[in-house]
Amino acid sequence: MDYYLKILGGGREVGRSAIEIGNSNGSLVMDYGVNFDANDNPNFPLQELPGKVKGFLVSHGHLDHVGALPIYEISTLKKPIYGTPMTKALAHLILRDFVKLSGPKIPFEWVEIDKAIKNFNTIEFGKEEEIEGFKVRMTNAGHIPGSAQIHIMTEKMKVTYTGDINTADTKLMDPANPDDLRDTDVLIMEATYGRFNHPGRKSVEKEFLDKVKEVIEGGGTVLVPAFSLNRSQELLSLFASVDFPYPVYYDGMSREITEVMLQHKDYLHKPELLKKAYDSFHYVNGFNERKKVWKDKGVIVASAGMLKGGPAVYYYKKLAEDSKNAVFLVSYQAPSTPGRKLLEIGKFDEFSPMLKARFELFDFSSHSGKADLMKLVRSAKNLQKLIIVHSAADSAEHFAAVVKEEIGVDVIAPENGQEIKL
Ligand SMILES: [Zn+2]
Ligand SMILES: [Zn+2]
Repeated sequence: MDYYLKILGGGREVGRSAIEIGNSNGSLVMDYGVNFDANDNPNFPLQELPGKVKGFLVSHGHLDHVGALPIYEISTLKKPIYGTPMTKALAHLILRDFVKLSGPKIPFEWVEIDKAIKNFNTIEFGKEEEIEGFKVRMTNAGHIPGSAQIHIMTEKMKVTYTGDINTADTKLMDPANPDDLRDTDVLIMEATYGRFNHPGRKSVEKEFLDKVKEVIEGGGTVLVPAFSLNRSQELLSLFASVDFPYPVYYDGMSREITEVMLQHKDYLHKPELLKKAYDSFHYVNGFNERKKVWKDKGVIVASAGMLKGGPAVYYYKKLAEDSKNAVFLVSYQAPSTPGRKLLEIGKFDEFSPMLKARFELFDFSSHSGKADLMKLVRSAKNLQKLIIVHSAADSAEHFAAVVKEEIGVDVIAPENGQEIKL
Protein backbone atom coordinates (compact mmCIF):
# COMPACT_ATOMS: atom_id res chain seq x y z
CA MET A 1 0.00 0.00 0.00
CA ASP A 2 1.22 3.54 -0.74
CA TYR A 3 1.52 5.97 2.14
CA TYR A 4 1.75 9.76 2.24
CA LEU A 5 2.47 12.49 4.77
CA LYS A 6 0.72 15.84 4.72
CA ILE A 7 1.90 18.82 6.75
CA LEU A 8 -1.22 20.45 8.22
CA GLY A 9 0.72 22.68 10.64
CA GLY A 10 4.23 23.22 12.02
CA GLY A 11 5.78 23.53 8.54
CA ARG A 12 8.56 26.18 8.69
CA GLU A 13 7.13 27.50 11.95
CA VAL A 14 7.27 26.61 15.63
CA GLY A 15 4.02 25.30 17.06
CA ARG A 16 0.54 24.32 15.74
CA SER A 17 2.01 20.92 14.96
CA ALA A 18 -0.20 18.70 12.82
CA ILE A 19 1.10 15.94 10.56
CA GLU A 20 -1.14 13.55 8.70
CA ILE A 21 -0.03 10.06 7.73
CA GLY A 22 -2.35 8.07 5.51
CA ASN A 23 -3.08 5.61 2.73
CA SER A 24 -6.10 4.90 0.51
CA ASN A 25 -8.05 3.61 3.53
CA GLY A 26 -7.76 6.76 5.65
CA SER A 27 -5.36 8.62 7.87
CA LEU A 28 -4.15 9.43 11.37
CA VAL A 29 -3.13 12.97 12.37
CA MET A 30 -0.16 13.31 14.72
CA ASP A 31 -0.75 16.30 17.03
CA TYR A 32 -3.25 19.08 16.37
CA GLY A 33 -2.04 22.26 18.05
CA VAL A 34 -2.16 26.05 17.87
CA ASN A 35 0.26 28.93 17.88
CA PHE A 36 -0.41 32.68 18.13
CA ASP A 37 0.10 35.68 15.86
CA ALA A 38 1.57 39.01 17.03
CA ASN A 39 -1.87 40.14 18.25
CA ASP A 40 -2.37 36.99 20.29
CA ASN A 41 -4.93 35.49 17.95
CA PRO A 42 -4.70 31.70 17.75
CA ASN A 43 -3.64 30.14 14.43
CA PHE A 44 -5.12 26.71 13.81
CA PRO A 45 -3.71 24.01 11.49
CA LEU A 46 -5.16 23.21 8.07
CA GLN A 47 -8.16 20.90 8.17
CA GLU A 48 -8.33 17.54 6.45
CA LEU A 49 -11.65 16.13 5.22
CA PRO A 50 -13.28 14.70 8.35
CA GLY A 51 -14.24 11.53 6.47
CA LYS A 52 -10.61 10.78 5.77
CA VAL A 53 -9.28 11.21 9.33
CA LYS A 54 -9.70 8.11 11.48
CA GLY A 55 -8.12 9.52 14.63
CA PHE A 56 -5.38 11.51 16.31
CA LEU A 57 -2.09 10.53 17.93
CA VAL A 58 -0.80 13.06 20.46
CA SER A 59 2.89 13.46 21.29
CA HIS A 60 2.51 15.60 24.45
CA GLY A 61 0.34 18.02 26.41
CA HIS A 62 1.68 21.43 25.30
CA LEU A 63 -0.90 23.75 23.76
CA ASP A 64 0.99 23.95 20.46
CA HIS A 65 0.37 20.16 20.10
CA VAL A 66 -3.14 19.71 21.54
CA GLY A 67 -4.85 23.11 21.27
CA ALA A 68 -6.90 22.32 18.14
CA LEU A 69 -7.96 18.73 18.97
CA PRO A 70 -11.51 19.68 20.07
CA ILE A 71 -12.24 21.02 16.56
CA TYR A 72 -12.79 17.44 15.42
CA GLU A 73 -15.12 16.76 18.34
CA ILE A 74 -17.75 19.29 17.21
CA SER A 75 -21.31 18.06 16.47
CA THR A 76 -21.48 14.52 15.13
CA LEU A 77 -17.76 14.07 14.52
CA LYS A 78 -16.22 12.00 17.25
CA LYS A 79 -12.63 11.19 16.42
CA PRO A 80 -10.68 8.98 18.79
CA ILE A 81 -7.48 10.43 20.26
CA TYR A 82 -4.50 8.40 21.51
CA GLY A 83 -1.66 9.33 23.84
CA THR A 84 -0.05 8.52 27.18
CA PRO A 85 -2.10 8.77 30.41
CA MET A 86 0.04 11.73 31.51
CA THR A 87 -0.60 13.53 28.22
CA LYS A 88 -4.34 12.95 28.56
CA ALA A 89 -4.39 14.51 32.06
CA LEU A 90 -2.17 17.45 31.08
CA ALA A 91 -4.10 18.10 27.84
CA HIS A 92 -7.29 18.39 29.85
CA LEU A 93 -5.84 21.13 32.11
CA ILE A 94 -4.15 22.95 29.25
CA LEU A 95 -7.27 22.98 27.04
CA ARG A 96 -9.44 24.29 29.87
CA ASP A 97 -6.92 27.04 30.54
CA PHE A 98 -6.91 27.89 26.79
CA VAL A 99 -10.69 28.40 26.80
CA LYS A 100 -10.42 30.51 29.95
CA LEU A 101 -7.79 32.81 28.42
CA SER A 102 -8.83 32.94 24.74
CA GLY A 103 -12.49 31.88 24.89
CA PRO A 104 -14.09 34.24 22.34
CA LYS A 105 -11.31 33.64 19.80
CA ILE A 106 -11.65 29.87 19.54
CA PRO A 107 -14.20 27.74 17.70
CA PHE A 108 -15.05 25.35 20.55
CA GLU A 109 -16.09 25.35 24.18
CA TRP A 110 -15.94 23.26 27.34
CA VAL A 111 -18.35 20.69 25.96
CA GLU A 112 -16.03 19.86 23.04
CA ILE A 113 -13.06 19.66 25.41
CA ASP A 114 -14.96 17.19 27.55
CA LYS A 115 -15.77 15.15 24.44
CA ALA A 116 -12.12 15.19 23.39
CA ILE A 117 -11.09 13.88 26.81
CA LYS A 118 -13.85 11.26 26.73
CA ASN A 119 -12.53 10.07 23.35
CA PHE A 120 -8.91 10.11 24.55
CA ASN A 121 -7.58 6.55 24.73
CA THR A 122 -4.39 5.95 26.65
CA ILE A 123 -1.45 3.93 25.46
CA GLU A 124 1.69 3.10 27.41
CA PHE A 125 5.31 3.49 26.32
CA GLY A 126 6.84 0.56 24.45
CA LYS A 127 3.69 -1.38 23.62
CA GLU A 128 2.81 -1.87 19.95
CA GLU A 129 -0.87 -1.11 19.38
CA GLU A 130 -3.14 -1.57 16.38
CA ILE A 131 -4.85 1.81 15.93
CA GLU A 132 -7.38 2.27 13.13
CA GLY A 133 -5.39 -0.14 10.94
CA PHE A 134 -1.98 1.38 11.75
CA LYS A 135 0.70 -0.26 13.90
CA VAL A 136 1.76 2.36 16.46
CA ARG A 137 4.28 2.49 19.29
CA MET A 138 5.24 5.40 21.56
CA THR A 139 8.53 5.89 23.41
CA ASN A 140 9.84 8.58 25.78
CA ALA A 141 10.78 11.88 24.10
CA GLY A 142 12.38 13.46 27.21
CA HIS A 143 10.70 16.83 26.57
CA ILE A 144 8.01 17.09 29.29
CA PRO A 145 6.35 14.40 31.42
CA GLY A 146 4.39 11.99 29.21
CA SER A 147 5.97 13.29 26.00
CA ALA A 148 6.30 10.64 23.30
CA GLN A 149 8.05 9.89 20.07
CA ILE A 150 5.50 8.24 17.79
CA HIS A 151 6.58 5.27 15.67
CA ILE A 152 4.36 3.93 12.87
CA MET A 153 5.23 0.64 11.23
CA THR A 154 3.90 0.14 7.68
CA GLU A 155 4.45 -2.96 5.53
CA LYS A 156 7.53 -1.35 4.02
CA MET A 157 8.99 1.07 6.53
CA LYS A 158 9.12 2.59 9.98
CA VAL A 159 8.11 6.24 10.24
CA THR A 160 9.06 8.12 13.42
CA TYR A 161 7.76 11.51 14.53
CA THR A 162 9.87 12.93 17.37
CA GLY A 163 7.25 15.36 18.69
CA ASP A 164 9.27 17.83 20.77
CA ILE A 165 12.39 16.02 21.91
CA ASN A 166 15.16 16.41 24.48
CA THR A 167 18.21 14.26 25.11
CA ALA A 168 19.36 16.22 28.16
CA ASP A 169 19.21 14.56 31.56
CA THR A 170 17.10 16.92 33.72
CA LYS A 171 15.85 16.80 37.29
CA LEU A 172 12.36 16.12 35.97
CA MET A 173 12.80 14.03 32.81
CA ASP A 174 14.72 10.99 31.64
CA PRO A 175 16.36 11.83 28.32
CA ALA A 176 15.05 10.47 25.01
CA ASN A 177 16.89 7.34 23.93
CA PRO A 178 18.52 7.66 20.47
CA ASP A 179 18.31 3.83 20.10
CA ASP A 180 14.56 4.22 19.56
CA LEU A 181 15.41 5.61 16.11
CA ARG A 182 17.82 2.85 15.09
CA ASP A 183 15.54 1.19 12.51
CA THR A 184 13.63 4.32 11.46
CA ASP A 185 13.41 4.83 7.67
CA VAL A 186 11.54 8.14 7.60
CA LEU A 187 12.14 10.63 10.41
CA ILE A 188 9.90 13.62 11.04
CA MET A 189 11.90 15.73 13.44
CA GLU A 190 11.45 18.96 15.34
CA ALA A 191 14.32 21.45 14.99
CA THR A 192 13.28 24.35 17.21
CA TYR A 193 17.00 24.85 17.95
CA GLY A 194 18.35 23.73 14.57
CA ARG A 195 20.87 26.60 14.65
CA PHE A 196 22.03 26.62 18.28
CA ASN A 197 23.61 24.42 20.92
CA HIS A 198 22.68 24.56 24.59
CA PRO A 199 25.23 24.57 27.41
CA GLY A 200 25.39 21.38 29.52
CA ARG A 201 22.48 21.04 31.95
CA LYS A 202 24.65 20.33 35.00
CA SER A 203 26.62 23.58 34.61
CA VAL A 204 23.44 25.63 34.07
CA GLU A 205 21.90 24.10 37.21
CA LYS A 206 24.97 24.92 39.29
CA GLU A 207 25.29 28.49 38.05
CA PHE A 208 21.59 29.11 38.62
CA LEU A 209 21.61 27.76 42.20
CA ASP A 210 24.80 29.69 43.05
CA LYS A 211 23.38 32.96 41.78
CA VAL A 212 20.00 32.54 43.47
CA LYS A 213 21.83 31.97 46.76
CA GLU A 214 24.09 34.96 46.18
CA VAL A 215 21.12 37.31 45.77
CA ILE A 216 19.31 35.99 48.84
CA GLU A 217 22.46 36.19 50.95
CA GLY A 218 22.84 39.80 49.81
CA GLY A 219 19.42 40.56 51.28
CA GLY A 220 17.33 40.25 48.11
CA THR A 221 14.43 38.23 46.72
CA VAL A 222 14.66 36.31 43.42
CA LEU A 223 11.75 36.14 41.00
CA VAL A 224 11.91 33.26 38.51
CA PRO A 225 9.16 33.64 35.89
CA ALA A 226 8.55 30.09 34.65
CA PHE A 227 5.98 28.16 32.62
CA SER A 228 3.62 26.33 34.95
CA LEU A 229 3.92 23.14 32.88
CA ASN A 230 7.33 21.47 33.16
CA ARG A 231 9.82 24.30 33.82
CA SER A 232 8.33 25.14 37.25
CA GLN A 233 8.43 21.48 38.32
CA GLU A 234 11.97 21.08 37.02
CA LEU A 235 13.18 24.06 39.08
CA LEU A 236 11.30 22.98 42.21
CA SER A 237 12.88 19.52 41.85
CA LEU A 238 16.27 21.18 41.45
CA PHE A 239 15.83 23.19 44.67
CA ALA A 240 14.65 20.00 46.44
CA SER A 241 17.70 18.07 45.19
CA VAL A 242 20.08 20.34 47.13
CA ASP A 243 17.85 20.88 50.19
CA PHE A 244 17.81 24.57 49.34
CA PRO A 245 18.38 26.41 52.65
CA TYR A 246 16.17 29.47 51.95
CA PRO A 247 12.40 29.84 51.48
CA VAL A 248 11.08 28.57 48.12
CA TYR A 249 7.65 29.82 47.01
CA TYR A 250 5.67 28.93 43.90
CA ASP A 251 2.60 30.56 42.46
CA GLY A 252 0.21 29.93 39.54
CA MET A 253 -1.20 26.84 37.83
CA SER A 254 1.96 24.86 38.61
CA ARG A 255 0.41 23.43 41.80
CA GLU A 256 -2.43 21.72 39.96
CA ILE A 257 -0.05 20.48 37.26
CA THR A 258 2.37 19.12 39.88
CA GLU A 259 -0.50 17.15 41.42
CA VAL A 260 -1.31 15.62 38.01
CA MET A 261 2.35 14.72 37.51
CA LEU A 262 2.55 13.06 40.91
CA GLN A 263 -0.45 10.91 39.95
CA HIS A 264 1.58 9.52 37.00
CA LYS A 265 4.97 9.02 38.62
CA ASP A 266 6.23 6.53 36.01
CA TYR A 267 6.80 9.41 33.59
CA LEU A 268 9.14 11.32 35.93
CA HIS A 269 12.89 10.88 36.23
CA LYS A 270 13.01 11.39 39.99
CA PRO A 271 9.45 11.49 41.33
CA GLU A 272 10.76 11.57 44.91
CA LEU A 273 12.30 15.01 44.26
CA LEU A 274 9.07 16.48 42.94
CA LYS A 275 7.15 14.93 45.86
CA LYS A 276 9.65 16.44 48.29
CA ALA A 277 9.27 19.85 46.62
CA TYR A 278 5.48 19.53 46.76
CA ASP A 279 5.54 18.64 50.45
CA SER A 280 8.12 21.14 51.63
CA PHE A 281 7.93 24.28 49.45
CA HIS A 282 5.32 26.93 50.00
CA TYR A 283 2.49 27.29 47.48
CA VAL A 284 1.21 30.89 47.43
CA ASN A 285 -2.49 30.53 48.02
CA GLY A 286 -4.30 33.66 46.84
CA PHE A 287 -3.76 37.37 46.96
CA ASN A 288 -3.37 37.80 50.73
CA GLU A 289 -0.33 35.56 50.73
CA ARG A 290 1.00 37.06 47.52
CA LYS A 291 1.10 40.46 49.22
CA LYS A 292 3.44 39.08 51.90
CA VAL A 293 5.81 36.57 50.32
CA TRP A 294 7.72 38.97 48.08
CA LYS A 295 9.00 40.74 51.22
CA ASP A 296 10.63 37.53 52.42
CA LYS A 297 14.24 36.84 51.40
CA GLY A 298 13.80 33.79 49.22
CA VAL A 299 13.00 32.63 45.71
CA ILE A 300 9.59 32.77 44.00
CA VAL A 301 8.85 30.56 40.98
CA ALA A 302 5.79 32.03 39.26
CA SER A 303 4.01 31.90 35.89
CA ALA A 304 4.03 33.21 33.22
CA GLY A 305 7.47 32.33 31.90
CA MET A 306 7.71 35.33 29.57
CA LEU A 307 6.08 37.73 32.08
CA LYS A 308 3.01 37.88 29.91
CA GLY A 309 0.34 37.99 32.62
CA GLY A 310 0.01 35.72 35.64
CA PRO A 311 1.33 36.27 39.18
CA ALA A 312 4.91 36.78 37.86
CA VAL A 313 3.84 40.27 36.70
CA TYR A 314 2.65 41.20 40.20
CA TYR A 315 5.96 40.11 41.74
CA TYR A 316 7.93 41.83 38.99
CA LYS A 317 6.30 45.17 39.84
CA LYS A 318 7.11 44.72 43.52
CA LEU A 319 10.72 43.60 43.05
CA ALA A 320 12.05 45.35 39.93
CA GLU A 321 12.96 48.68 41.51
CA ASP A 322 15.42 47.39 44.12
CA SER A 323 18.93 46.46 42.99
CA LYS A 324 19.23 43.90 45.82
CA ASN A 325 16.56 41.73 44.13
CA ALA A 326 16.86 39.68 40.95
CA VAL A 327 14.75 38.54 38.01
CA PHE A 328 16.07 35.30 36.52
CA LEU A 329 14.51 34.15 33.27
CA VAL A 330 14.71 30.43 32.53
CA SER A 331 13.27 29.99 29.05
CA TYR A 332 13.07 31.29 25.52
CA GLN A 333 11.36 34.71 25.33
CA ALA A 334 9.09 35.13 22.30
CA PRO A 335 9.12 38.40 20.31
CA SER A 336 7.00 41.22 21.74
CA THR A 337 6.65 39.65 25.21
CA PRO A 338 7.76 41.64 28.30
CA GLY A 339 10.54 39.08 28.84
CA ARG A 340 11.93 39.83 25.38
CA LYS A 341 11.58 43.59 25.98
CA LEU A 342 13.67 43.24 29.13
CA LEU A 343 16.38 41.46 27.15
CA GLU A 344 16.29 44.08 24.39
CA ILE A 345 15.76 47.40 26.17
CA GLY A 346 15.97 46.59 29.90
CA LYS A 347 12.35 47.61 30.50
CA PHE A 348 9.07 45.72 30.95
CA ASP A 349 7.57 47.81 28.12
CA GLU A 350 8.30 51.16 26.45
CA PHE A 351 6.52 53.12 29.19
CA SER A 352 7.94 51.50 32.32
CA PRO A 353 11.12 52.46 34.22
CA MET A 354 14.43 50.69 33.67
CA LEU A 355 14.78 47.45 35.61
CA LYS A 356 17.11 47.98 38.58
CA ALA A 357 17.12 44.42 39.94
CA ARG A 358 19.81 42.02 38.79
CA PHE A 359 18.74 40.31 35.58
CA GLU A 360 19.90 37.12 33.86
CA LEU A 361 18.76 34.44 31.45
CA PHE A 362 19.51 30.76 32.11
CA ASP A 363 19.21 28.15 29.36
CA PHE A 364 17.05 25.33 30.78
CA SER A 365 15.80 24.26 27.37
CA SER A 366 13.44 21.31 27.00
CA HIS A 367 14.39 20.91 23.31
CA SER A 368 17.60 19.36 22.02
CA GLY A 369 20.04 21.77 20.39
CA LYS A 370 21.72 21.38 17.02
CA ALA A 371 24.50 18.92 17.97
CA ASP A 372 22.10 16.63 19.86
CA LEU A 373 19.59 16.72 17.00
CA MET A 374 22.44 15.65 14.68
CA LYS A 375 23.22 12.75 17.03
CA LEU A 376 19.60 11.66 16.84
CA VAL A 377 19.64 11.78 13.03
CA ARG A 378 22.84 9.72 12.97
CA SER A 379 21.36 7.11 15.26
CA ALA A 380 18.80 6.24 12.55
CA LYS A 381 20.93 3.70 10.68
CA ASN A 382 18.40 3.03 7.88
CA LEU A 383 17.41 6.63 7.33
CA GLN A 384 16.01 7.36 3.84
CA LYS A 385 14.30 10.66 4.42
CA LEU A 386 14.38 13.43 7.04
CA ILE A 387 11.47 15.85 7.31
CA ILE A 388 12.04 18.93 9.45
CA VAL A 389 9.06 20.48 11.29
CA HIS A 390 8.45 22.72 14.33
CA SER A 391 11.26 25.05 13.28
CA ALA A 392 11.35 28.62 11.95
CA ALA A 393 12.21 28.75 8.22
CA ASP A 394 15.81 29.95 8.71
CA SER A 395 16.52 27.36 11.37
CA ALA A 396 14.92 24.54 9.32
CA GLU A 397 16.94 25.49 6.23
CA HIS A 398 20.18 25.74 8.17
CA PHE A 399 19.69 22.36 9.81
CA ALA A 400 18.60 20.77 6.51
CA ALA A 401 21.78 22.01 4.81
CA VAL A 402 24.00 20.65 7.60
CA VAL A 403 22.32 17.22 7.52
CA LYS A 404 22.50 17.05 3.71
CA GLU A 405 26.20 17.83 3.76
CA GLU A 406 27.22 15.61 6.66
CA ILE A 407 24.94 12.61 6.19
CA GLY A 408 23.76 12.89 2.61
CA VAL A 409 20.16 11.73 3.10
CA ASP A 410 17.14 13.28 1.44
CA VAL A 411 16.05 16.25 3.62
CA ILE A 412 12.86 18.29 3.32
CA ALA A 413 11.75 21.38 5.25
CA PRO A 414 8.13 21.35 4.01
CA GLU A 415 5.57 24.15 3.91
CA ASN A 416 2.14 23.79 5.47
CA GLY A 417 -0.12 22.02 2.98
CA GLN A 418 2.74 20.10 1.34
CA GLU A 419 2.21 16.41 0.66
CA ILE A 420 5.10 13.95 0.70
CA LYS A 421 4.88 10.50 -0.86
CA LEU A 422 6.56 7.73 1.10
ZN1 LIG B 1 6.03 22.32 20.60
ZN1 LIG C 1 6.38 21.00 23.68
